[in-house]
This record gives sequence, C-alpha cells and structure tokens, in this order.
Amino acid sequence: MSTYTKEQIKNLVDGKLDWDTTLRMLSMPKDAERFQMYVEALQRKLDWADRIVLPLSPHMFIVQQAKTRKWVTQCDCGHVFCDYRENWKLHANIYVRESAEAMAEVYPHLMAPDTNWQVYREYYCPECGTMHDVEAPTPWYPVIHDFEPDIEAFYGDWLGLPVPQRAD
Ligand SMILES: [Zn+2]
Repeated sequence: MSTYTKEQIKNLVDGKLDWDTTLRMLSMPKDAERFQMYVEALQRKLDWADRIVLPLSPHMFIVQQAKTRKWVTQCDCGHVFCDYRENWKLHANIYVRESAEAMAEVYPHLMAPDTNWQVYREYYCPECGTMHDVEAPTPWYPVIHDFEPDIEAFYGDWLGLPVPQRAD
C-alpha cells in the first residue's frame, strides 16, 4: 500500500490534485494520521477560527463554527451555506444552461446535448462566485442532494479518532 508524502498532501491542499484522487487518498481505511495532516494543512491555509470537520470538495467544507460550535457547510471564502445536514445547493446561486446558446458556451459546435433531455445546473457561492458543482440532469429532475456524510462513523470507525463535539 502506498503512503502519501508531505509534498503530495501539499499538492492536495493547493488544489493540484483532482477530487477523485483526493477522495482515494482520504478514503483509505484507518489512516488517521494522513487525515489529520491534511486537515491541519488546510486549516493553516484557510486561517480560520472555525475548525474543519470534513472537506467536501476543493473549496467547500463542513466546519464547526468557533462561536456557536454548530456544524455548517462553508465555502473557503467564509460564506456559510447552511446546516451541514441540509442540501447546500438550495442555498447556492444556480445557473441553469437550458438553451442551445448557453450549452454552446461549454460544448463544441453540434456536440452539445439536446436541452429537452439534459440541462446543466451550475452551483456558485453567492459571496465569492466560486463554482462548487455541476449537474447534468434531465430538465425536470429535482436538485440532487449528493450525500449526507456519516461523520461519527467516519471519525470513529474509519479513523479511530474522537468525534468533534457538535452543539445543536
Ligand atoms: Zn465563497
């Protein structure tokens, strides 16, 4: 089994690794040390009083707020989307590409999907404008709630670390 160097973890933190690699790095079992190194490096980079509980994507985190000790989904600019159990996408700025013209901005000529069958929904931070996710559903499909992470199990069962105490 390969282990990860400080250099790779730095690349991870600087966003130089894609999210699949990131997830692979984070999802290998029983690697509490690597997880802690990663979170500590992110924490230094972000310079927040809020504690990172779980990174969700390169610019989005579940954090424990310093003031309230509540867990929220937060952008790296500091914008709070919502309670971590809610679907943050419903609190984002959403741009839907549902016309041939809008699709033509991202697809080469004649390569775009038929917008009767597929649209793009892009989710942006209302404060800093970072795009956090893109979906390509059929037009009528509801906003997708990616997943609700089982943080207790992730810390306790996978990493063998104490679970951060949540106030709510
Ligand atoms: Zn933001």
